[in-house]
Parts: sequence; structure tokens; C-alpha cells
Amino acid sequence: MTEAQFEKMKREQHCLRYMDTRRIEEVFPDIVSIEICYQLHHGSAFGSQDKEGTWDVNLQSQMCFVIDCLNRECTSAGFDLKNEIYAMHHDHLTEKSGEMRCDGQEAPDHPEQSCDGQLKYTIKIVFKQS
Ligand SMILES: [Zn+2]
Repeated sequence: MTEAQFEKMKREQHCLRYMDTRRIEEVFPDIVSIEICYQLHHGSAFGSQDKEGTWDVNLQSQMCFVIDCLNRECTSAGFDLKNEIYAMHHDHLTEKSGEMRCDGQEAPDHPEQSCDGQLKYTIKIVFKQS
């Protein structure tokens, strides 16, 4: 399985978890494209990892804007950007940046240790001209 296929599979699992099976283009018919630039960081006793990339969201996919924490053992469901995107849509914002901290635990058998995962993101939305 390629990295892209793996990410797609994880994303689909998250969608099942969030139970929102509507397609993005149904919920936001006035959006032409959504692009999410992200920088992920996770540090632990075993060293730190960084990853960055750009997610060109497929508007025909389900309402799911989750980016996985870099910590593979993390107990959280990932960084959910849905509320950010709803807010941007509401305010007709075309660009927004922010940061999130992971709300999970370092590993299922370390419930007292919170995950150090971090996400920096820039979301860009293109709206249809009215
Ligand atoms: Zn995490």
C-alpha cells in the first residue's frame, strides 16, 4: 500500500467515526476548491518527527477534514478542521491559518502522558463568483 492509499484509508475510517456521509459539494455548493497546507510535529523520548504537505481536498468526498497526528500510537482521532472550514464558509474567508495541539494520549498504555502532536495549518478556500 502506498502512503497516499494508507492516508485515504485512515481518512475513510475517520469519516465512519464522525458519521457524516454527506459529500462536501452538497454541504458547500458555493465552494470551488479547498486546499489545506499543513505542518505536523511530534516529539517524544524516541525523537521528533516532522511532516508537511498540501491536501487538495476532493469536494466529491465526504465531509471529513481530519489530519492524522504524526504519533501513530496516539489515541486521538486526529486534528479535525471541520469547524474551521464551517467558520470560514460562514464568514466567506478565503484564507485562514492556525495551530492545534493534539488532544490524545501518547499511547493507549500511557494514559497519563498527553500526546505532544502539533499541527500548523493554512486553509485556502475558493468560492464561486456570485
Ligand atoms: Zn497525537
